[in-house]
Amino acid sequence: MTFCDKIQIHSIKGRNMYILRLTYSRFSKQRDINTGIVFITLCYYFRDILLSLHGNYVRIERMSPNNTSVLLIYTGGTIGMIENAETGALESFNFEHLQKHVPELQNFTFRIDTYQFDPPMDSSDMDPDAWRKLVRIISDNYNQYTGFVILHGTDTMAYTASALSFMLEGLNKPVILTGSQLPIGVLRTDGKENLLTSIEIATARHPNGRPIVPEVCIFFENHLTRGNRTTKINAENFNAFRSYNYPVLASAGIHIKYNNVQIHTEKVQRELQPHYLLDTNIAILKLFPGIQEKRGGCHSRYKGTESCGAGNLRFGQCSAERVVSPSSAQCLRTRHYHCKRYPMQRRYGRNGAL
Ligand code: ASP
Repeated sequence: MTFCDKIQIHSIKGRNMYILRLTYSRFSKQRDINTGIVFITLCYYFRDILLSLHGNYVRIERMSPNNTSVLLIYTGGTIGMIENAETGALESFNFEHLQKHVPELQNFTFRIDTYQFDPPMDSSDMDPDAWRKLVRIISDNYNQYTGFVILHGTDTMAYTASALSFMLEGLNKPVILTGSQLPIGVLRTDGKENLLTSIEIATARHPNGRPIVPEVCIFFENHLTRGNRTTKINAENFNAFRSYNYPVLASAGIHIKYNNVQIHTEKVQRELQPHYLLDTNIAILKLFPGIQEKRGGCHSRYKGTESCGAGNLRFGQCSAERVVSPSSAQCLRTRHYHCKRYPMQRRYGRNGAL
């Protein structure tokens, strides 16, 4: 009779994966029973691994609430500002003040570490270098934290969220951006709710230990939306963001209801692959009736146009070579870009312009 007498667990460097190797040998009849009991006991302990033995590698990531932790990155924005009593102007203040104004942070039973941009940035100053910095912070600390919360000004939060979603390839943990319309020290601030719920979402896990939202998202005014689908729509209301063409990923009321079907999860668990190279020759060129090429209407140096309706543009408007694509649809509610539906689209397609 054959039993395994050696079970080895190998960690594959940097991959957080394990192989269970069973080594077989022959045993005498007498020892078979004892070894069988040992084997069954070990099977019980390693049942997760054994259940997944149909593949070569098994990812084990069972985190108990004890090893939950969040990295809170404060980049700047209204959420961390305070009103100067003399001038009435909003000024950035130190992150410790933020904690002082949100004593509820102490109620979380897990570790919350912080990283502060120094000096804090108004989000209108955000640029690819700041995105790279965020990607670097996340990837350097990726294995230490359950999730990441980024406090960010609302003006360009959607751009940062979108950029990060492409720069963090293979992301398998929540990266939640949030901010507020009113500074956190102000009585009616929306910042507290946004911050506390974002932390909750960043640490939310399924019973099997997997994060519920392993995506780059924006949480604002009770809604969690996909980062690269979200647009700022309002500078006055608390409800400042909207996800066009994609459902919200979660709604926060008394309970946080996750829209699990719409949340992206990687089928095959991959290593995080951070990207730092960005093509900055991209601009949105809004095409409108009468736009003049000579007046700098169509600059071939830049890529990306916003065209009419579902992606139409007047054929004579710009020479085909100068309209560099892909062209996006003007209509925010359009679900698909109908590349070949209209004659002019087919013409541009033939010319290689779209
Ligand atoms: N100017 C601020 C910023 O985007 C506005 C805000 O945080 O809402 O940084």
